[in-house]
Amino acid sequence: MQGGAGRTPEAIVVGGGFAGLSAATLLAEHGVRVLLLEARPYLGGRARSWVDPQTGSTVDNGQHLFLGCYRDTLRFLDRLGSADRLSLQPRLSVPFVEPGGAVSIFALPPLPVFSWSLLAGLMRFPGLALRERLGLLRVAREVRRGSRRASPAAADELDDVSVSSWLRALGQSARADERLWHPLATAALNEHPERASAALFLPVLRELFLGGAGGSRLGVPLVGLTDLYADPAAHYLRARGSEVRLRAQVRGLMFERGRCAGVFLSDGARVPAPDVIVAVPPGELLEMLTPEVASEPFFSRCSRLETSPIVSIYLWFGSAITDLPLAGLIGGQWQWIFSRRAFAGGGGAGFGVTLVQSAARIFVEASRDSLVRRALDDLHRFFPASRRATLRHSLIIKEKRASIATLVGSQALRPTWRTPQPGLHLAGDWTATGLPATIEGAVISGHACARQVLGDRGSA
Ligand SMILES: Cc1cc2nc3c(=O)[nH]c(=O)nc-3n(C[C@H](O)[C@H](O)[C@H](O)COP(=O)(O)OP(=O)(O)OC[C@H]3O[C@@H](n4cnc5c(N)ncnc54)[C@H](O)[C@@H]3O)c2cc1C
Repeated sequence: MQGGAGRTPEAIVVGGGFAGLSAATLLAEHGVRVLLLEARPYLGGRARSWVDPQTGSTVDNGQHLFLGCYRDTLRFLDRLGSADRLSLQPRLSVPFVEPGGAVSIFALPPLPVFSWSLLAGLMRFPGLALRERLGLLRVAREVRRGSRRASPAAADELDDVSVSSWLRALGQSARADERLWHPLATAALNEHPERASAALFLPVLRELFLGGAGGSRLGVPLVGLTDLYADPAAHYLRARGSEVRLRAQVRGLMFERGRCAGVFLSDGARVPAPDVIVAVPPGELLEMLTPEVASEPFFSRCSRLETSPIVSIYLWFGSAITDLPLAGLIGGQWQWIFSRRAFAGGGGAGFGVTLVQSAARIFVEASRDSLVRRALDDLHRFFPASRRATLRHSLIIKEKRASIATLVGSQALRPTWRTPQPGLHLAGDWTATGLPATIEGAVISGHACARQVLGDRGSA
């Protein structure tokens, strides 16, 4: 079997998520003819959208937030010509709601120097005593100190420390944890602060505290995720003579004369190529390897990575629930609320909100009725006027393996993009990006693998 335009592909990319599509499009930009193989009938992987048949609304498989510091992601969207489908805040501003409806906003005021703006933002952080606000500065100082040291080894030392112990060592109060650090860490790391590695919280805080006003801005797509990047990437690839094949599951990798030389598909076909970028989650990668290769410590370590779920509920009402585009729910059963009006286009009936819970192991087991009940309880508690709104429709999405669990000690299990097998490159949000498992990590890894392929051929 052959690749795009009836010829043998110059590179194969396995997996059509952010990692695979960013790798494939960077290669195509440099004139490499790629064959992209995706097992499912659609692209997008863990970040995709579809039209909900009951409401006609475009829904994502869970609300995705972007940050101004997602530099590789913005470069990828620029390549596709779809960067204008992402809306970034002018400056960081995160509302938090208390039971009863009081809103306080964590914002960075516009001051000439970013560190003054950060200082002012932290010193005005709502709901904390002066002493606790001064305590926040200790974390900011530690992040700055850590970044001066800036050696990966320093971050590795923190891999054995949980986020909550690290915050305790920096004298943070229970209230500062509850109102700021824990919601931030849980959302960014998709793991409970007691279990999550501090080594992965540090880069998040580094961007927030040191990344400049542009880097800390939050962004949301104005369209569904599939329209933001997956469909434009397929179009980009096909327009450059590459091929995107759906329902094409890779069953195994082909190894010849000590290098990866192509793939076997589950329909029995064999596709040779000089380079293969595998951009699938760790479990699926291990299934593709021969037992001999899978037993190499480089690969076998990956089997110890655990996963963590995210549960989202979309609710459509007859009237508006809140004007806030997003908000943290302090002490809520759900962690965040997003107002659908402000987000994904595609119209749709009614006024929608999405509630999100990260590291949602308990919610994964809960019944549909109990999740709807918990969502309505929260809305009634945090937005009392919502008691008068009529619920028209609800949709629950349980992503059981939303990301790898960023547990204490997990950094050491994440593999590098270059593997011991020549010709085989690994991409994906779970590889050794030094970041939590995010879109930006996925795209960084995809771009890095594409550069490896180009560099090995002397065309980078
Ligand atoms: C509900 C939810 C909310 C999230 N929120 C955020 C957020 O707010 N911000 C953020 O930055 N990140 C967020 N993330 C994480 C983000 O979605 C992921 O980091 C990113 O999508 C991972 O992309 P990837 O390409 O590495 O992997 P994937 O998207 O998993 O892509 C892998 C692809 O490989 C395919 N595949 C697997 N096996 C094979 C095979 N044998 N042959 C061929 N193809 C195969 C799969 O079908 C899949 O399409 C969220 C994730 C979820 C689930």
